[in-house]
Amino acid sequence: MNEYDIAVVGAGPGGYVAALRAAQRGACVCLIEAGQVGGTCLNRGCIPTKALYSTALLLRRIHGAAAHGIQVDPPRFDFAKAVARKDEVVQKLVGGIEQLLRAQGVDVYRGQASLAGEGRLRIRRPEVTAHLRAKNIILATGSRSVRPQAFPVDGKNVLTSREILAIKELPASLLVIGGGYIGCEFASIFAAFGTRVTVVEQLPTLLARTDRHAVREVEKAFKEAGVSVRAATAVESLKVTDGLVRVGLSDGEELEVEKVLVAVGRVPNSAGLGLEQAGVRSDDKGAILVDEGMRTSQPGIFAIGDVTNIIQLAHVASYQAGIAVTNAMGGDAKADYRVVPSAIFTLPEIGQVGLTEEDAKEQGIAVKIGRFAYQASGKALCDGETQGLVKILAAADDDRILGASCVGEEASTLVAEAAAAMQAGMTAQALGRTIHAHPTLPEMLMEAAEDVHGLAVHKAGRRRDR
Ligand code: FAD
Repeated sequence: MNEYDIAVVGAGPGGYVAALRAAQRGACVCLIEAGQVGGTCLNRGCIPTKALYSTALLLRRIHGAAAHGIQVDPPRFDFAKAVARKDEVVQKLVGGIEQLLRAQGVDVYRGQASLAGEGRLRIRRPEVTAHLRAKNIILATGSRSVRPQAFPVDGKNVLTSREILAIKELPASLLVIGGGYIGCEFASIFAAFGTRVTVVEQLPTLLARTDRHAVREVEKAFKEAGVSVRAATAVESLKVTDGLVRVGLSDGEELEVEKVLVAVGRVPNSAGLGLEQAGVRSDDKGAILVDEGMRTSQPGIFAIGDVTNIIQLAHVASYQAGIAVTNAMGGDAKADYRVVPSAIFTLPEIGQVGLTEEDAKEQGIAVKIGRFAYQASGKALCDGETQGLVKILAAADDDRILGASCVGEEASTLVAEAAAAMQAGMTAQALGRTIHAHPTLPEMLMEAAEDVHGLAVHKAGRRRDR
């Protein structure tokens, strides 16, 4: 039986990063994957959606070309080609990860793994079952879309994010159940492609736990793009007849659409891992319980990424991979989630890190807020992208930056600077004094930081407060 220092189960951004980090440190490592290397993120999540998002953004820009004096005949959009391009991007990245794993000497096994007694794993493939031994095991089995019984996913008309990424023909109409980030990203993409889109959300607003100003900008953009938002409304019935879906809403209205996307959350992939027999504790949703060091209740077994349901984001899974590997190799690292940037690729996009204004109010934390609008940025004006806002929150007592939110062009990129500033413990004053190249979008962060003290130069109407 093959023996390893570390065996990693699941090759998403949690698992493959854990395997590579462990190999970098000289451990003898294997990685077991039931599907494709890259996991949800590369194959069915972050990457394919952002490849399509990039097409949607380009299409939108082409529609705005006339303002630059460029006359374009109505652009013809070939959805099948955009899908093929998206698949190429995915294949290239998956191939790259496979190459890295080979180069680092990681043994990759294909099959469904489960815990099979102390330090042992069973790997099932349709034709064979194999076993291996490992001193430490890292579970990184990810998550899958919730499929409520009331919305039977048939893969043709009623889809989850997995199936919608595989369609080859552009639907004339799409109803999205769930106004979270996955639902809103697909709504933006398909609306830009010309599909008639409706988003139905049970809560009063879209994108819960996101800066309210940013959400309002997205709602405004949805309106302009013809996306119908039905907030505070539930889908009560779905019926597929003759290739169309009849959707009954809680306000009594019935809609008929070509496709329905069910985007109502994700659940951890922990069934079938043999957790109970192995003494690994999980909660009632199947999330594996871990301490700050990513240790489960069983010595020598760690869990990272979506299967822990701590924060379901790819970069968090990769971060946790580093913590688990350090500890599996005798260290004592602890995860710290105070600075976790997140990006929502709607049109306009959103970038956020740390506290939002609403969080600060809810938690009773006294903050000062600086704001700077895209319309006052020279670069945003040059780009013709003047919709949006940058906001910085600093502690009222010591001026440390506690959060930032950006909505508008390149917001997902802008927020990285705020995250670095927070990680370094910077004050708003220090960020405001940092020289920024001109003309660039990050100047808005500098101005928003200065605005915390009423000192933004390109903003009228605020006075110096100290
Ligand atoms: P996964 O990526 O889910 O990987 C787990 C792997 O484990 C899978 O390959 C699975 O086949 C394998 N596996 C499961 N069970 C077993 C077993 N028993 N044996 C062997 N292998 C097994 N996050 C972002 O940060 N940014 C984004 O823009 C973003 N966009 C997204 C868009 C969509 C549509 C979706 C669905 C998700 C998106 N996410 C995004 C979330 C992101 O994909 C996840 O947070 C991330 O993939 C979690 O990584 P992971 O390694 O924990 O699990």
